[in-house]
Amino acid sequence: MSEKDLNGRALKVAFIGSECYPFVKTGGLGDVMYALPRALQRQGCEVRVIMPCYRCIPDKYKRMMQHRASFMMDLTRDGRTFFVGIMEAELDGVTYDFIENREFFDWGNPYTGLWEDIPKYCYFSKAALAALNCLDWIPDVIHCHDWQAALAPVYLRTHFAGTPVGSARSVLTIHNLRFQGICGIEHLKFWTSLPDELFNYPVFKINDGEANMFKGGLAFADRITTVSAAYADEIQTDFYGEGLNGHLWYHRQKLLGIVNGIDVEQWNSQEDKLLTAPYDGEDVLQKKPENKKALQERLGLSTEGDQFVIGLISRLTDQKGLDLIDAVFTQMLDEHTQVVILGTGDPRYENAFRYYEGEYKGRVCAYIKYDESLAHQIYAGADALLVPSLFEPCGLTQLIAMRYGTVPIVRETGGLKDTVEPYNENTGEGNGFTFDRYEAPLLLDAVRRARRVYTEDRDRWNAVVTRDMAKDVSWQRSAGLYMDLYAELAEQ
Ligand code: ADP
Repeated sequence: MSEKDLNGRALKVAFIGSECYPFVKTGGLGDVMYALPRALQRQGCEVRVIMPCYRCIPDKYKRMMQHRASFMMDLTRDGRTFFVGIMEAELDGVTYDFIENREFFDWGNPYTGLWEDIPKYCYFSKAALAALNCLDWIPDVIHCHDWQAALAPVYLRTHFAGTPVGSARSVLTIHNLRFQGICGIEHLKFWTSLPDELFNYPVFKINDGEANMFKGGLAFADRITTVSAAYADEIQTDFYGEGLNGHLWYHRQKLLGIVNGIDVEQWNSQEDKLLTAPYDGEDVLQKKPENKKALQERLGLSTEGDQFVIGLISRLTDQKGLDLIDAVFTQMLDEHTQVVILGTGDPRYENAFRYYEGEYKGRVCAYIKYDESLAHQIYAGADALLVPSLFEPCGLTQLIAMRYGTVPIVRETGGLKDTVEPYNENTGEGNGFTFDRYEAPLLLDAVRRARRVYTEDRDRWNAVVTRDMAKDVSWQRSAGLYMDLYAELAEQ
């Protein structure tokens, strides 16, 4: 029994979120929904993960699911009821409950567009709470993630007040404030049938007269967390607050930043079957060149000479600082530098990177796909990983890179600032290369500083690589902070 247990019994926490690796993942949220419950479980917490049963979940996982229950649930203002199926699976000791409804979850990968996603997640948040009552599994805390689950804290204190799950406390985590679930007030009233008085300014209403699901959830949640301390401060400012900075400042007493970790079993260079030459901190310097060569061969890059290979693994959106990369791309390249891009997203960036690949054959590869196995091979085979984000709530790619002995080059924002200690030219200390203002010449300067150390001071470069591999990027410490938070809430 852990010391964090409540009067001798384990804390019970229900995770509610829209994606979870390995069932469905589009970004860091999927990683956290997978890794944090496992880490919590190791610390003595009982966790259940509730997510939609999307059609796009691969069959091999669907075959693991068993039907647990089904019922009809009220949802809309016109009194329509909707089917809720509960499919259950267990993976490595964590129980997953999948909410089944073909009307909502048969489309998308898994998202479609706000018009369909808003009803989908109004339904999901309510069905998740109803499922807990139906399963008679009443958690101490419901831990909700991003706008898609933001209505759960609101339903908890309205439609579910007085029901068994209504005794739970709620935590709402902001993984990315850019996406908020905004629609017309009447639309949200229809799909939630929540009381009219909630559609006022302190709860759902925003300045332009629309309704904002995230805003309402933040108002109702007992605690708000975000995925790094720096981002917790940033979102209270105009620049990073995405229109909710005033609201978050108002609720700052319940706002806390806890930095994400990564699952160190999922990301383990020593056991990684996808690598040509698995390695650990002891033999990284011998094995990385083998992985680099395999990567170059797979992607049709030149293997001549000692190349400085820069990786980019990212959703290709404005958030990720790609306009900075585009502005200085050709200046970043030289005959000893190669760039490997893995990502999908905005056609503007997809096309720009495809163009560079065509223009610099053998030196640039733009792999415009989502590909887990290539991601592993880039983390292992590249020397440096670029993350020049405009904003970055936490960022996982720099953490995975460090774990694989790949040196991050990042902008000092959000979680990047909290997790990458800048290289110090005088002492050789630090974990990566950083720049502060969102300006392309500063990114170029950071890349050049990194390359200079790589080519002219290999001992110091190697010291950064081995230091990165030794850095603790696991969930252990942060999971402990979540345990403290849950225990504090449960005891109130
Ligand atoms: P975000 O959640 O904003 O997309 P994060 O850095 O928090 O960014 O998480 C990104 C996760 O998605 C990482 O696990 C990264 O390896 C993975 N990823 C991003 N793009 C791809 C891709 N094209 N192929 C494979 N994995 C990807």
